[in-house]
Amino acid sequence: MHEVIFLEPVFKEMIWGGSRLSEDFGYDIPGDHTGECWAVSAHKNGDCLVRGGSFSGKHLSELWEKNRELFGGIAGDVFPLLVKIIDAKEDLSIQVHPDDAYAKEHENGSLGKTECWYILDCDKDAKIVIGHHAKSKEELKQMIEEGRFEDLIRVIPVKKGDFFQILPGTVHAIKGGTLILETQQNSDITYRLYDYGRLSDGKPRELHLEKSMDVIGCPHRDISADRTREQFAGAVKEHLVSCAYYTVDRLLINGGADFVMEEPFCIFSVVQGAGSIDGTEVRKGDHFILPAGYGKYCLSGEMELICSSVGR
Ligand code: ZN
Repeated sequence: MHEVIFLEPVFKEMIWGGSRLSEDFGYDIPGDHTGECWAVSAHKNGDCLVRGGSFSGKHLSELWEKNRELFGGIAGDVFPLLVKIIDAKEDLSIQVHPDDAYAKEHENGSLGKTECWYILDCDKDAKIVIGHHAKSKEELKQMIEEGRFEDLIRVIPVKKGDFFQILPGTVHAIKGGTLILETQQNSDITYRLYDYGRLSDGKPRELHLEKSMDVIGCPHRDISADRTREQFAGAVKEHLVSCAYYTVDRLLINGGADFVMEEPFCIFSVVQGAGSIDGTEVRKGDHFILPAGYGKYCLSGEMELICSSVGR
């Protein structure tokens, strides 16, 4: 198969969302509280359509079901990844995800959720929440029971270009003024730990304290990103993360370079600039898949891409 598969994003309005998906990416968003662009998704809550080519108008889930050869014939009930761009104008609630084993048992056989964040842009003083300060499960339970969430959560500064791998059991939240590209397992299971006491339609949003306490790892352990760079004549490939679920790289194209795809398939998101893939023009905001067997490809122009593939 030697065809680039372009996808149409699905947008989600969120109370914390903004309008940067329109302003920065030129997307036609449904309103000025648009929080999420589901750029590459086969999830039932937002299943992307193929734009152009032999599969035009089909959902990604349908390709996964009926044309598994496009994805190297890999096993799985659902398309394994979900790539999003998130525009957080306001703070998101503080949450934690279960792992596969916990989700399977407690959430009707769902997958758990490992996710990672590449900070596309953020305000000068932007922060995120990653981890917590409780030294043991007992201390964690006590702090939650006493409602000492502000003491519990670990807030850290972020800057453009930072990258974070977020394992299941990690307390986390995106805070306002942050634009993120997220690659994650295809799952929606989220336990809300704390919502800053905010009200939505006059009521606090539901919290999931018991399940949160079950899954939060104590004490918190940071994952150190192992970012390595490979220099090409007209490009730089920076490796961001590899885990059991995905591999994520960042490509900086300055002129152009040839690459060879070794993964079953690759998802590309153009996050800056413009250029082409094998002569087809692409620009910031485009998302596409190179299917199995695509082999050698050439990226040219002046652009930055995030490349996500299944774990190795
Ligand atoms: Zn999350």
